[in-house]
Amino acid sequence: MAKNEDYDVIVVGGGNAALTAALSAHENGARVLVLEAATEEERGGNSRFSGGIFRAAHDGLEAMKPILHSSNERWYGRVESEPYTAETYRADWMRTSAGRPDPALVDTTIDRSFETLQWMHDLGVEWDLTADKLMDPDKQPDGTTIQLPPGGAIRARHEGIGLIERLYAAVEAADIDVWYSAPASELIAEGATVLGVRVRLEDSFLDIHGQVVLAAGGFEANPEMRLRYLGDGWDLVKVRGTRYNMGEMLRKSIDAGAQPAGHWGGAHAVPLSQDAPAMGDLRYTDKFSRYSYPYALLVNDAGERFVDEGETEVWLTYAKTGWAIRAQPGAQAYQIFDQKVVHLLEPRYSTSQPVVADTLEELAEKLSISAEGLRNTVDAFNAAVPDDAEGRTDPFSLDGVAAKPAGQPAKSNWARRIDQGPFVCYPVTCGVTFTYGGLRVDEQARVITQEQKVMANLYAVGEIAGGFFYHNYGAGTGLMRGAVFGRIAGANAAVAAKARSEKNEVAA
Ligand SMILES: Cc1cc2nc3c(=O)[nH]c(=O)nc-3n(C[C@H](O)[C@H](O)[C@H](O)COP(=O)(O)OP(=O)(O)OC[C@H]3O[C@@H](n4cnc5c(N)ncnc54)[C@H](O)[C@@H]3O)c2cc1C
Repeated sequence: MAKNEDYDVIVVGGGNAALTAALSAHENGARVLVLEAATEEERGGNSRFSGGIFRAAHDGLEAMKPILHSSNERWYGRVESEPYTAETYRADWMRTSAGRPDPALVDTTIDRSFETLQWMHDLGVEWDLTADKLMDPDKQPDGTTIQLPPGGAIRARHEGIGLIERLYAAVEAADIDVWYSAPASELIAEGATVLGVRVRLEDSFLDIHGQVVLAAGGFEANPEMRLRYLGDGWDLVKVRGTRYNMGEMLRKSIDAGAQPAGHWGGAHAVPLSQDAPAMGDLRYTDKFSRYSYPYALLVNDAGERFVDEGETEVWLTYAKTGWAIRAQPGAQAYQIFDQKVVHLLEPRYSTSQPVVADTLEELAEKLSISAEGLRNTVDAFNAAVPDDAEGRTDPFSLDGVAAKPAGQPAKSNWARRIDQGPFVCYPVTCGVTFTYGGLRVDEQARVITQEQKVMANLYAVGEIAGGFFYHNYGAGTGLMRGAVFGRIAGANAAVAAKARSEKNEVAA
């Protein structure tokens, strides 16, 4: 393949943030190159592994219908989605991230969220409601109206696989060059002015010049960096997504003068089936995630609870629950359901065989955990559940049915006695999704230097940008901020490339 060494815009990465940046730069008149470290078969980064949920501010179901795929008509009348206002979105984000995110980045994501879904729709991305994601609608009692979590109501059709397929189809239709197995290995710069990137090919390096948009993910696939930044034991956790996000351009960009930002000791980490592969597998994508624990008791090897399983809606707690599991002995835990709630399990639980037992003692023996500890935990928990819990419980909303057993964490919602065997248990561990530390960017996606200046000709979007998330996270925000900022960065890089070439023409 003849490789031209000059482009207006070079996008580093091949996931959601990269492809939206590439499409936006192209739309704004730029000649664009996408550099993807992965092979063509493995392209698409974590975005391809994702559930495809996009957290957007919206005005409710009616407002979403124009961008939904026609097959969603089967849900109309069966599902409801309250509007998700910008104010609620902001409050959820700030609360889950302990008030620390850069407000300009948060506001930009939120304010441009729904229009970005519309823009992606126009590019060919198809959208579905998330009606069958959190539980199987057909297993719910007749006449049940499914309440979608307003912040997690919409996802790409066929999830991450469909998202990436549609984005690459748009990239190919636009004739944008994509090089596979072409990792960027460092920035080419003169002082703090970026001129391009160096690409590491199998037998040589190649220097390419142009505006650079970094969209190369975090360092979640790199055990050495996980250990260094996240701490002891993090080198051993399972990785949910791509093996290619090694943090190389993150480190190299800091070496070149870019400023680190955000929660470098933090990462998105979830309850993952113990039988999940050590590294993401595209045959399963996110099907080993285990998010029905609000209806369970979650215990460790000692049979003890260690989190409030019902603190709030699951999509605002799951990303920190993996941390809590990793801190348990052996980084393992057990979700225990009784027969009253098994119909509420997410459909994807079917990828594992549960451990089933008629009694708690038998279950503990099968799991090799403390039978005495489990019995004590469940007895104390059951005793703390209000007598009218069954009449008041509502799986679709924060029902406020709480238990506060002495010596255990409270369960703030969905507290029901665990008393109807056979008991069904899914063993879980911690799966890391992506890391929160990244490069400092402004609301124009421009990278900021260690001297607080704009680093000329360099943009960073998606996981590689820091300052967005701290400690915890609301489902769907990762893809949303990647697309919003990808679109912004692509447009800005295209405009900057044009200005630069006009300047060069005048000089010539
Ligand atoms: C199982 C799973 C489920 C998820 N579900 C959701 C969800 O439903 N909603 C949501 O919002 N988020 C979800 N996420 C998180 C979400 O996938 C990420 O936040 C998002 O995809 C990040 O997009 P990105 O483009 O920044 O990175 P990625 O999609 O990871 O893309 C990074 C790209 O950079 C490439 N790359 C790496 N290094 C280099 C280099 N040196 N040179 C060139 N290319 C390089 C990689 O190959 C990859 O193509 C999920 C993640 C996983 C793993």
